[in-house]
Amino acid sequence: MNEESDTSRHFLRQWIEKDIAEGKTGGKVVTRFPPEPNGYIHIGHAKAVCVDFGMAELFGGECHLRLDDTNPAKESDEYAENIKNDIRWLGFEWSGEGDGAEKGFYNASNMFDKMYEIAENLIKAGQAYCCNLNQEEWKEYRGVPEKPGRPSPSRDTSVERNLEIFRDMKAGKYADGEWCLRAKIDMSSPNIHFRDPVLYRIRHVPHYHLADKWCIYPMYDFAHPIEDALEGVTHSMCTLEFEVHRPLYDWVVDRMDEQNLLVVRDGVKIRPQQREFARLNLTHTVMSKRLLLQMVQENVVDGWDDPRMPTVCGMRRRGYTPGAIREFCARVGVSKVESVSDPALLEWCVREELNKVAPRRMAVIDPVKVVIDNWNGEARNVVLPNNPLDESAGTREVPFGGEIWIDRADFMEEPDKKFFRMAIGKEVRLRGACIFKCESIVKDETGKVVEIHGVWDENSWGGNAADGRKVKGTIHWVDCATGKSAEFRLYDKLFLESDPMKDGSENFLKFINPDSLKVVKGYVEPLLAESSKLDRFQFERTGYFVCDGEGVFNRTCSLKDSYKP
Ligand code: ATP
Ligand code: MG
Repeated sequence: MNEESDTSRHFLRQWIEKDIAEGKTGGKVVTRFPPEPNGYIHIGHAKAVCVDFGMAELFGGECHLRLDDTNPAKESDEYAENIKNDIRWLGFEWSGEGDGAEKGFYNASNMFDKMYEIAENLIKAGQAYCCNLNQEEWKEYRGVPEKPGRPSPSRDTSVERNLEIFRDMKAGKYADGEWCLRAKIDMSSPNIHFRDPVLYRIRHVPHYHLADKWCIYPMYDFAHPIEDALEGVTHSMCTLEFEVHRPLYDWVVDRMDEQNLLVVRDGVKIRPQQREFARLNLTHTVMSKRLLLQMVQENVVDGWDDPRMPTVCGMRRRGYTPGAIREFCARVGVSKVESVSDPALLEWCVREELNKVAPRRMAVIDPVKVVIDNWNGEARNVVLPNNPLDESAGTREVPFGGEIWIDRADFMEEPDKKFFRMAIGKEVRLRGACIFKCESIVKDETGKVVEIHGVWDENSWGGNAADGRKVKGTIHWVDCATGKSAEFRLYDKLFLESDPMKDGSENFLKFINPDSLKVVKGYVEPLLAESSKLDRFQFERTGYFVCDGEGVFNRTCSLKDSYKP
């Protein structure tokens, strides 16, 4: 986390500091980031990454990367690999022991044997039982928060019979949903998650790593505390919706303690604890992986890494920097109050960083040709700074000849008083080159200007008149003889509606912005032919762009915005 903006000693930080002071961590703060490999990570996950890795970093501890692959249906290695790639790109690295060759890396599925053993132990201790209520009955028995639920008819089945059913569940003797394993806790608890919650369910679905080894899978509420405890995690941070699950989390940790399964570090028994913070929400976007996948599958976007997507890989292709994303997460802050952030703040962070580091270049995205009638045919080089804010970035030479491209918006046939760019009879500075006076224009049959003619002041090479007369406007240009043609992809927000979910998640696509991508052709200065994918630039007076392949540039954001953080 950026020191500068991390002025808030937020509640999670205070909580961890207190535990360190009380000696609860066994000398080491251990956190984890537990994504499910069923999609690409998005800006919301990036916030969790910043919190989980950031807290470990702050206290010199470890953050594990744990793939929460307990739900076999939609998980894949492709997702897993991309999650790793995106976390590294954000600037974080997992550390700790790990459950295999890779340090700090865990798969929840590697703990399935242990989870099963713990479940059997619960049965043996009379703390769990098998239940065959169907889903409707299950809901009916569970009841509503205001009224106690009713015990399942199988609640008092003998330990032997329960073990037999559970083993048969594991052996595949039952169909999906026929039986489940439930914790025996309290059917009258006002917290509905505490009313004998399901621990294991039957799912005849192969797992992407373990194939058909299992046909029963642990529920999140059972698996997560076990994973945390077995890994020796001290502080388990998640989003607010899990707050009501916390008593169950603690119940599972207590049972593990009874079963002598807690990690002991430096003589301290590590009891993982869970705390919850508000999730990151953004206007004009959706963040559920299910809906992002739907947009990919229905070709609403060009893939998970489409630059309009709120995914980390999408933002990378948009030209956002990891530093700007981390800064954004720090500015949004960590709290328990739900809020919705403005993507303009994220853009502001991006612009702040790019302004400091992005090399300046010239590009013309809506070209019209300018012919300098008195040019003697000789090519010259203009020397321009790569970044006026950073002398160490050096300078570059940009070829200049008698014909150049300028942006159509920089010419006005009938200029108003405040227009200081190119107009007939007026002088304008061609960035770094010379002063040019427009004299005439050529139009096509539709009235569109297709060529601009004029003369240059031969005593103004470098951009200033020898006689000291002032020329107010400066415009950028690309030399026709040496410039390279390019494609520019101009992105706008993906949704027109600030809350695309306002009519329910079935209807979010009706708010898609039909103009969220505009592709235009133009020219760039010759040096840009050498740029590689993901190189970021400031195209002077035009915007920040990122190279997306040979001759293709994605607009990251405009140069300025009225937004103030
Ligand atoms: P989604 O709802 O988008 O499918 P998820 O919560 O199911 O996301 P996981 O892979 O389970 O996705 O999430 C991994 C971690 O990221 C969890 O700890 C979760 O709390 C956190 N997380 C997910 N979305 C956000 C968000 N919008 N803001 C902050 N943290 C988030
Ligand atoms: Mg989840």
